[in-house]
Amino acid sequence: MEKRIIFATGNQNKMKEIHMILADLGIPIYSMKEAGIDIDIVEDGSTFEENAVIKAEAIARLLPDDIILADDSGLEIDYLDKAPGIYSARFAGVDTSYDIKNQMLLDKLKGVPDEKRTARFVCAIAAALPDGTVETVRGTIEGIIGYEIAGENGFGYDPIFYVPEYGCTTAEMNPDQKNELSHRGKALRAMRKILEEKQLDSDTQ
Ligand code: IMP
Repeated sequence: MEKRIIFATGNQNKMKEIHMILADLGIPIYSMKEAGIDIDIVEDGSTFEENAVIKAEAIARLLPDDIILADDSGLEIDYLDKAPGIYSARFAGVDTSYDIKNQMLLDKLKGVPDEKRTARFVCAIAAALPDGTVETVRGTIEGIIGYEIAGENGFGYDPIFYVPEYGCTTAEMNPDQKNELSHRGKALRAMRKILEEKQLDSDTQ
């Protein structure tokens, strides 16, 4: 049977990035929808890794012969005890606009000096493999919460995530630049390395 990678996301932007970074593996990659899977998965883990594993394993039960990848990501703000963290999508309600969510976070950090505004985007990716094993990787990008909303690119919390080395928010970067630095880009490249090693192992067996 032909080897396939199924990525547990319905997000087209993520799929583009995934295709770009994992293309070298030479294994065809499909989204959940393209693989004909449409299920709601309850992400009730307490870490990014746990949630990614929950998603990957849920799909692996339906497609045991495929390599299933799933990610979970979010923003950790140190001053807020790492909130919104795993609740990033749900923070202030899933239907609340990011203009409002971002402004709420800026308000919570009003008067807080630069050195206490540290934050990071985190992305965990889990792989559930046909041999029954599960691998996880984590990628992060460090920054600070800015003082105002800035930039039109990206999505979510990008307009308030300021990267001092680049002097701009991730919403002011072009997509290629962001992919190179981002938590998701780093995690995807780490996962590519693991899958390459696994592939080499299975080729030499
Ligand atoms: P999920 O992993 O797709 O569920 O994403 C969780 C949430 O984290 C997103 O809805 C965003 O609010 C936030 N997030 C994750 N990655 C990024 C990013 O690269 N930029 C901005 N927000 C992000």
